[in-house]
Amino acid sequence: MSIIVQKFGGTSVADTQKILGAARKAIRAAQAGRQVVVVVSAMGKTTDSLVALAKEITDRPSKREMDMLLSSGEQVTIALLAIALESLGYKAVSMTGAQIGIKTDSSHTKARIKTIDTEKMRKTLADGNIVIAAGFQGVDETGNITTLGRGGSDTSAVALAAALGAEECEIYTDVDGIYTTDPRLLPEARKVTQISYDEMLELASLGAGVMHSRSIEFAKKFGVNVHVRSSFSDTAGSLITALPEGNTPVAGAAVAKNEAQVTLVGIPDKPGNAMRIFSKIADAKIATDMIVQNAGLDGKTDIAFTVPGIDLTATLDVLQSLVNDIGAEKVEWKENAVKVSIVGLGMETQPGVAETMFRAVSRQGINIEMITTSGIKISALVTKDSALDTLRAVHNAFHLQSPISAVANVTAGAKKKKLPTAKSVTAGKESRIVSFNSPLLGMEDILIEAITLDQSQARITLPNIPDKPGIAAEVFEKIAAAKIIVDMIVQSSSRNSRAVISFTVPRKVLDRALKVVRKLTADWGGEEPLYNSAAAILSVRGTGLRSHTGLAYRMFRTLADGGINVNIISTSERCVSVSVDDKNGEKGLKLFRKEFAKEMM
Ligand code: ADP
Ligand code: ASP
Ligand code: MG
Repeated sequence: MSIIVQKFGGTSVADTQKILGAARKAIRAAQAGRQVVVVVSAMGKTTDSLVALAKEITDRPSKREMDMLLSSGEQVTIALLAIALESLGYKAVSMTGAQIGIKTDSSHTKARIKTIDTEKMRKTLADGNIVIAAGFQGVDETGNITTLGRGGSDTSAVALAAALGAEECEIYTDVDGIYTTDPRLLPEARKVTQISYDEMLELASLGAGVMHSRSIEFAKKFGVNVHVRSSFSDTAGSLITALPEGNTPVAGAAVAKNEAQVTLVGIPDKPGNAMRIFSKIADAKIATDMIVQNAGLDGKTDIAFTVPGIDLTATLDVLQSLVNDIGAEKVEWKENAVKVSIVGLGMETQPGVAETMFRAVSRQGINIEMITTSGIKISALVTKDSALDTLRAVHNAFHLQSPISAVANVTAGAKKKKLPTAKSVTAGKESRIVSFNSPLLGMEDILIEAITLDQSQARITLPNIPDKPGIAAEVFEKIAAAKIIVDMIVQSSSRNSRAVISFTVPRKVLDRALKVVRKLTADWGGEEPLYNSAAAILSVRGTGLRSHTGLAYRMFRTLADGGINVNIISTSERCVSVSVDDKNGEKGLKLFRKEFAKEMM
């Protein structure tokens, strides 16, 4: 008999009527001849209320006790749902994470799943029961209750589906599918019929709160078909699966509110400094994004990055203790920034996507404070009050509101290449790549697909350009007009209202690219562009790399130990890249292969 996992989020079980509604959906699946596992969240805003209660007592409650407290929310729902099913004449058994045997590591409030014991669940299902599982929680080796991080019930559901080899994992929620962006922000957003794991993973990690990003890591790693749909209707929702919906450059846009931008100013530019910063931050399990290390000017460099606003205090604690150690001048930070990102598998093969995005933003007179790109995403940091205008401008620029069949190629001078096919994306069930409960690997351990060295690139840095709307658009418009494909792009504000942009272009077109940018910098009265005609790009590819906070750190440490300095850094869920001097490329590659040997697929 096939197994289906159904997950109901907070709003879908907010009161007893809704719990009865969820029970009826489970019953229908059982009547269709399937074994049913239902994963539930805490009712309505219960988890928020529990957090608030602890905050009434102290700002820094211990994490172990927070897990004990927060896990109680889901325990209420599982019992009520089991009672509802029994009242409707069906056999049901509720189980906490510990009772199921969801073993996690001990990082309280952000625990990762190591193994799931399926024996008890299978037996309970075989006895004719519907199994009701508490989402969001597990238990560590010593029996402490842990939670997986806010929104973590999605991850519980997909992980259970993976462990049980379920045919499908249905995510019932308060929207009827995945939209091109949050439909509560932009009502004109379009519902997608399908989205690829890679795109959804990136969107979720960049702020699309509809799915917990780690759930998509599981889905991709174990080939789980995820169907996101409405709790309150029977219409088909959206499938998260191996292939993208269509051949467009951009699949969706996401917004991360309450980002904080942190800059470590005036760091001596030598191997090892980036490593020390990110090692400390990784230890605190803080996921950094938009890392920009400006090419060193007068032997000093600035490293800027963003962290979620809620992690700012912890980040500053870490950095303050480092400033003296590494001889930096100071730490600066800004709160309340908003990160607007576009994501699409198609952008890897189509030039002009970055330029289209920057141009759309600059037309609104909005200044982009930071830019980072990586493979299938481009992120721009803007101020809070311009966030919605930025999102709408970008969403419109790629015609995301229009039916997919009507979306022509919208990027300038684009010559389309073929999109990746199932072969290059992790495909279907037969390609499950991790054996469950393997003694060597935890289910959520990092898995690396490839480590590569690209020696075809050169790096250009514009060290001192005006920090005002439209600058990035102008640079990349001119570059795109010259038919030059740009790979990594980073931009950050520097001191005195000046900005720094670095990017890489193919070596063979470096001269042409320099000609284009020299003309621009001359017009702006800026400094001559700097360049490195032989930049080597080392990349580590895998799944969920950014959420594994330690990965970037290990890359930096490995390079630092080898005396190799890092220039540009770009991070995404599926790829972390660094550019180094060409002479260090081969050596870096060897060091990475050794460092990550255990995690290679
Ligand atoms: P649940 O409690 O069911 O887990 P969430 O609130 O976590 O529900 O997620 C559903 C919400 O995600 C929607 O109400 C919607 O506002 C938001 N959302 C953000 N981005 C998207 C998107 N791209 N598509 C659909 N919904 C989105
Ligand atoms: N109840 C938890 C939360 O609100 C987990 C979840 O709903 O996914 O974060
Ligand atoms: Mg959710």
